[in-house]
Amino acid sequence: MNYKHLFGPVISRRLGISLGVDVVPYKYCSMNCVYCEVGQTTHLINEPEELVDLPDVIKELNEYIEKNPKLDYITFSGAGEPLLYSKIGDLINYIKAKYPQYKLALITNSSHIHRADIREELLKLDMIMPSLDAVDQDIFEAINRPHEDISIKDIIKNLIEFNQHFPGEMWLEIFFVPGINDSQDELTRMREVIKEITPERVQLNSLDRPGTEPWVVQEDKEKLEEIKSFFQADLSDNILVEIIKKVDKKLYDENPGSLEVEEKIISTIRRRPCTAQDMSQMLNVHINAINKVLHKLIEEKKIEGAHQERGIFYKLINQS
Ligand code: SF4
Repeated sequence: MNYKHLFGPVISRRLGISLGVDVVPYKYCSMNCVYCEVGQTTHLINEPEELVDLPDVIKELNEYIEKNPKLDYITFSGAGEPLLYSKIGDLINYIKAKYPQYKLALITNSSHIHRADIREELLKLDMIMPSLDAVDQDIFEAINRPHEDISIKDIIKNLIEFNQHFPGEMWLEIFFVPGINDSQDELTRMREVIKEITPERVQLNSLDRPGTEPWVVQEDKEKLEEIKSFFQADLSDNILVEIIKKVDKKLYDENPGSLEVEEKIISTIRRRPCTAQDMSQMLNVHINAINKVLHKLIEEKKIEGAHQERGIFYKLINQS
């Protein structure tokens, strides 16, 4: 069966084997981040909407889980911001009641973590991975290009408040864009904010492969190490700071679903270069599953991407 709302299971750098559940169509988001691996936001919205049909999502989940797959997590993530789906609370309740054997995670840009109508449901999650790339509004706007009604001050306040009540784990992700959010001043203020949010982990991330904007480059590895030491030096031992690691290739190779996607991608771009979105449509595979495989192929130096007007086109490095 081809799934519209499920992708993977993919090997996530943070969650092991994770079945992705996408409840947001391409590409609805409350932000349009310069580094987004999914591409430009075409629908910049700020009010939760009934973006997908709940019975449809549930039907796919039931069909998939019937096969008793090996999974560490079921994870809400996808082509946009999952908390923009008005019925995500109902879905959390359903999964928690019907499939208690799986852990449930949410990857979010933090903009709607304060939604009062799903507060109880969010507290049932096992893991939440919110992003926070800036503490200054100008820097926030430069990197995340949010909907005009979103302020970083509110996001910080809401993250602090949320984590005071959240019994699960919070891993805060910070994506560094060199020259924009890595000044000493911003890092110092960020560290103070982390102390107030008190996540279990802070994960430092940087570009691995072409982002939405071609001028975004990877943060220097030494600089990331310096940031890690700077943060950790003044945070309690209960907050672990780490640089996000690459996918464990062995785990990846043990996952036949991913290998199948990899073969399809290679045979597609052998014929002609394509964007991730093209491949997703042609192969009927979710954009995130495509992106995970592209990421691995770039690391293995099997493919490369080139920015063109319509997006990043991927091609094989060695056509033979
Ligand atoms: S990175 Fe996340 S929050 Fe930013 S535009 Fe992409 S999907 Fe939206």
